[in-house]
Amino acid sequence: LMKMGTMATINQEISFEIASLICNEFGYNLIKSDTSEIEELEIEALMEIEEDDEKDLLPRPPVVTVMGHVDHGKTSLLDAIRDTDVTSGEAGGITQHIGASEVNVNGQKIVLLDTPGHEAFTSMRARGAQVTDIAILVVAADDGIMPQTVEAINHAKAAGVPIIIAINKIDKPGANPERVKQELSDQGLLVEDWGGDVISVELSAKKRINIEGLLEMVLLVAEVEELKANPEKRAVGTVIEAELDKGRGPVATVLVQGGTLRVGDPIVAGVASGKVRAMINYKGRRVKQAGPSTAVEILGLSEVPSGGDQFVQVPNDKAARLIAEKRQELRREEMLKASSKISLDDLFEQL
Ligand code: GDP
Ligand code: MG
Repeated sequence: LMKMGTMATINQEISFEIASLICNEFGYNLIKSDTSEIEELEIEALMEIEEDDEKDLLPRPPVVTVMGHVDHGKTSLLDAIRDTDVTSGEAGGITQHIGASEVNVNGQKIVLLDTPGHEAFTSMRARGAQVTDIAILVVAADDGIMPQTVEAINHAKAAGVPIIIAINKIDKPGANPERVKQELSDQGLLVEDWGGDVISVELSAKKRINIEGLLEMVLLVAEVEELKANPEKRAVGTVIEAELDKGRGPVATVLVQGGTLRVGDPIVAGVASGKVRAMINYKGRRVKQAGPSTAVEILGLSEVPSGGDQFVQVPNDKAARLIAEKRQELRREEMLKASSKISLDDLFEQL
């Protein structure tokens, strides 16, 4: 390489032309692989998400995350919300099967992400994904604003997501909702009865007091947000969580955010690819399709993607495989670069 005037380190990429010249020098013939440059360009085009035409957009249900300080009642509130869904008419109520659930309020759907706390925001935002439309911030009326409450406020603000305050545990003797409102105003959140525009609801998750009131506020905020999506395009969305199931192989809960995903569709999710073999909804039932604002568990991926990865439906199996391979290659390169950087730093440290 040096003789040819190319100064490259061991991890550096060189052009195909240079590489083939060197190979010839040593008696080898270098052949371009499956993924030619033209194909690479086509692949990039396939991963581009089509711009939505205003006329194709239809209203979609809101996707909600519950946040708040530990023990302020996030899990209890999620349970209480699921309990309000009487339309299911199932014996034993709804059991939680996947990483998200749905409730019906006055005939309107609300999607709840089951990952309470900040993970939903942190891991998603690290990958540039945004899945939440509305954040419910739970604050215990007997405890007030705590460090994780402030963190949650900052996450929601940074993501530009509207916050609804759920002042919880109003059944407790030490409950002091007014103090909570005072502390919220110190954080720049002025609730409505303090002359601001932040909606707050006083409730008890444990005693099931005013849960409907909270859900009506969620629908109100959703209406103001004018949430819309085009159900008629290639499906696109985000991986909520994924794992390797002993019997079923890689399993991922995905949120469809645009288009409609159907069984048999070839998809790419992060570095994983495959054909959707089966889809399971929040009730644990098999479904054939999933439109915007629907969370489903999908089977059929080649490997386990990461939470926050984007998934995209692609035209065929070959494209799915090539894109996933290309991404794996890029990831390997990045890891190689990172490890070589670490060893250099170590070296300097020793010097
Ligand atoms: P998380 O850590 O935010 O998920 O909080 P949990 O839902 O696990 O609740 C923590 C504790 O507070 C549990 O013992 C709950 O039973 C209790 N709790 C939650 N909501 C209420 C409520 O509205 N009233 C009362 N009295 N206790 C509650
Ligand atoms: Mg919890």
